[in-house]
Amino acid sequence: MTTSSLNLSGRVAVVTGASRGIGYFLARELAAAGAHVVAVARTVGGLEELDDEIKAEKAISGKGEATLVPLDLTDGKAVDRLGGAIHERWGKLDIMVANAGVLGVIAPLGHVEAKVFDKVMAINVTATWRLIRSLDPLLRLSDAGRALIMSSGAAHSARAYWGPYAASKAAVEAMARSWADESKNLPLRVNCVNPGATRTAMRAQAMPGEDPSTLPHPSEIAKTIARLASPEVTETGQIFDVPSNRFVRYRMPE
Ligand code: NDP
Repeated sequence: MTTSSLNLSGRVAVVTGASRGIGYFLARELAAAGAHVVAVARTVGGLEELDDEIKAEKAISGKGEATLVPLDLTDGKAVDRLGGAIHERWGKLDIMVANAGVLGVIAPLGHVEAKVFDKVMAINVTATWRLIRSLDPLLRLSDAGRALIMSSGAAHSARAYWGPYAASKAAVEAMARSWADESKNLPLRVNCVNPGATRTAMRAQAMPGEDPSTLPHPSEIAKTIARLASPEVTETGQIFDVPSNRFVRYRMPE
């Protein structure tokens, strides 16, 4: 399926980390396919820019809308309120993309400051769990709930100095598999995504010596990821690897 044939009309999608990078372009793709995107991040300027783009696209195609939610995902009570607000307005949620994340620091484990380690875990792991806790009841009410959780190749590679980030991504993958198994008898499908190296601020922080023009632009990556939000996707508990354009399969319990 191409993104142009992706039809998400009438679907409500939460995208975290929508103020820049992969989340920004993913929110645009989902809106272009007709979804109402609830765009979450802290930077109001980035969210407003997204809203302008979605409005401009809608003026041409008639499709897509955004609701902006400036929010720090480490504020657990605010994440809880998000679920309540979505329930009040739409009574369900169709798509959740837990994309927001931080790298922390690239350093030997013994040199990582405790507050940096805690921040990586708070945003990448605890906030993702809190989002699941808040939105799972709403996704269960959708006829084709789709949850995508952004992981990384770092979850599987044994790469020196990436310890906190790698551990956080391995943790969300484990959480996603549990959630997928909990919901396997529902229309809800839960998958992780490895976007691969992408031209964003996070990648530049991780690899300052790299020429960004050698990397895929997040708008390209977003087209592939958006397809995973389609009601047609049947896989659950898997990781979609964008660079190889395929699911890497885990054995789910019988
Ligand atoms: P960016 O740094 O470009 O964007 C990160 C997003 O997360 C921003 O929108 C930021 O918004 C949001 N965010 C961070 N902290 C918080 C917070 N406390 N509350 C709310 N929002 C927050 O990252 P990428 O686009 O590169 O990465 C997106 C995802 O893809 C991440 O999970 C990353 O780990 C993963 N990934 C990226 C790769 C790459 O090469 N780029 C490779 C593999 C995985 P704001 O600051 O406005 O709050």
